[in-house]
Amino acid sequence: HEDEMISVVGCTEVKNMVTAMNEILAKAQVLENSRQEFVSNVSHELKTPMTSMKVLADSLLQQGETVPAELYREFMNDIVAEIDRENVIISDLLSLVKLDKKAAKLEISSVNINELLEMIMKRLKPIAGQRNIELILESFRPVTAEIDEVKLTLALSNLIENAIKYNQDDGWVRVSLNADHKYFYVKVADSGVGIPEDCQGQVFERFYRVDKARSRETGGTGLGLAITKNAVLVHNGEIKLYSKEGEGTTFTVRIPLKYQA
Ligand code: ADP
Repeated sequence: HEDEMISVVGCTEVKNMVTAMNEILAKAQVLENSRQEFVSNVSHELKTPMTSMKVLADSLLQQGETVPAELYREFMNDIVAEIDRENVIISDLLSLVKLDKKAAKLEISSVNINELLEMIMKRLKPIAGQRNIELILESFRPVTAEIDEVKLTLALSNLIENAIKYNQDDGWVRVSLNADHKYFYVKVADSGVGIPEDCQGQVFERFYRVDKARSRETGGTGLGLAITKNAVLVHNGEIKLYSKEGEGTTFTVRIPLKYQA
């Protein structure tokens, strides 16, 4: 009878172990799939400008000396634009790698967030001005927080840049800053195109774009929100989005005032 008890206990333990192993294997498979997908996306994104450059350069070569000066200049300009794009993708990828939760080394200092937002918005004003988009900053109180200034600047700039990029002419972008005793809150609201509900879960994924053409047209790589989310997470913060297609988008960011490793 005792033997039977042992075998019953043993059997349950083995079953639990098998279940646990299967769970670990399933998680490893998910990670592996996402790694493969990432590598394939990176290759695709980097190959696209490369392919255009090759076509343009080949065409110039084929025409040799006979190529009209006008056409030569046009093709060369296109090649330079593709090289610029390649550079943007690579620098976004590097930012993303640096913001990997395990690898991220934060340079924490005490930063005046009101001034940080003013600085970001001043820098983006000319871009907004081109399409007569109004940039509004509402600071409800003075906020000083312990953050990595470079990484958080990147995160917030991306949000405000997107709010301009995916807006309509003569629209507005409202950035507001508030705080309580524990956190500060930045809200970036826009009067733009909005994000369809079924895409809202994916926009933080690397290389995901709702409208590929519009994103590419405006120099987007599909990495901006992935960078922003990682930068917020390494600060132990939180980011959420509210949007309705055609009715604008609001991103809210919550970051602890004091950083804890
Ligand atoms: P991209 O480089 O394409 O801008 P992001 O990662 O910054 O990439 O954003 C992913 C996608 O989310 C964008 O391609 C766009 O479709 C959508 N998106 C981001 N921000 C906004 C916004 N404020 N309004 C509408 N759509 C947005």
